[in-house]
Amino acid sequence: MKDDRMLDVIIIGGSYAGLSAAMALGRSLRQVLIIDSGLPCNWQTPHSHNLITQDGEKPSVIAKKAKEQVEKYATVKFQKGFVVSGVKTAEGFELLTENGEKYQSRKLILASGIEDIMPRIQGFAACWGISVIHCPYCHGYEFKTRKTAIMANGERAMHLASLVHNLSKDLTILTAGQASFTKEQSDKLKTHGIAVVEKEISKIQHKNGWVQQVIFNDDEEMAFDAVYAAVPFRQHAGIPVSLGCELTEQGYIMVDNFQKTSVKGVFACGDNSSMMRSVANAVATGNLAGAMANKELVDEQF
Ligand SMILES: Cc1cc2nc3c(=O)[nH]c(=O)nc-3n(C[C@H](O)[C@H](O)[C@H](O)COP(=O)(O)OP(=O)(O)OC[C@H]3O[C@@H](n4cnc5c(N)ncnc54)[C@H](O)[C@@H]3O)c2cc1C
Repeated sequence: MKDDRMLDVIIIGGSYAGLSAAMALGRSLRQVLIIDSGLPCNWQTPHSHNLITQDGEKPSVIAKKAKEQVEKYATVKFQKGFVVSGVKTAEGFELLTENGEKYQSRKLILASGIEDIMPRIQGFAACWGISVIHCPYCHGYEFKTRKTAIMANGERAMHLASLVHNLSKDLTILTAGQASFTKEQSDKLKTHGIAVVEKEISKIQHKNGWVQQVIFNDDEEMAFDAVYAAVPFRQHAGIPVSLGCELTEQGYIMVDNFQKTSVKGVFACGDNSSMMRSVANAVATGNLAGAMANKELVDEQF
């Protein structure tokens, strides 16, 4: 598809946040283009939880339903592709896709999610979202009372342990190296009967993504049903940075209460700008970003 028009809004990313923004804009008769490369972060997870009306639904089914509803708004168009760069122009923004297509818009919404960086542990990536999980709210209930590991250290491990302990008392923290707990933290873990294993992990043995054993570098094995893990992430492509959007210390796009980034006319929503990683949050922030982009256009035109 080639579109030489100056569009009202381009949305980068057509998953939960992007579709939610598009719905608000489509209902406001805005000319919108969603450019999406079609790889949401939860693609491997069999069931998505903790979103009212969709609890336990397959992630792809939620996205399909959302897309079908947005497609009913004639001013919203879709383009499959990956945006590689974006620049500010006199009138707004110009984006370039990896296929060399250029698109222009007055406003820009970044709904591009984040890219999880998998550790180099054999079996980890295959279990990600199935039995190696990131969030007790999304998957904790399904693994309640089961044999559970937390792959983390220090503050992060304490935070996860405090949440997960309410769901399973059979908890072990795997620090994969020297534990970095204060005396107070170690005492707390002991009080709650949470073991700490400091050995490096070499492999996660699994069946179709379902964890069976964690294997350490001395070949010792421990059986678990679920492993919580906090993995590092980065922004998809360098667009937020090349446009000049400020990032937080943790690497999220900095936004205000109205999803505005530090660059005028650029909004961000969903995982790329929030620590609260959930479909519900992506939908809520996307909806707000769409409304605020529309408001900015209204203020400029009315
Ligand atoms: C394994 C896993 C399981 C999860 N389970 C749950 C759960 O059970 N319940 C829950 O509420 N939440 C869950 N989450 C969190 C939830 O999936 C995310 O919060 C949600 O997907 C965020 O939506 P988003 O639209 O911001 O990003 P994403 O859904 O990740 O979508 C980003 C979209 O942008 C596209 N994109 C990125 N860069 C570009 C570019 N440069 N050009 C074009 N397109 C681009 C991608 O291809 C993708 O389609 C889970 C997350 C993970 C990782």
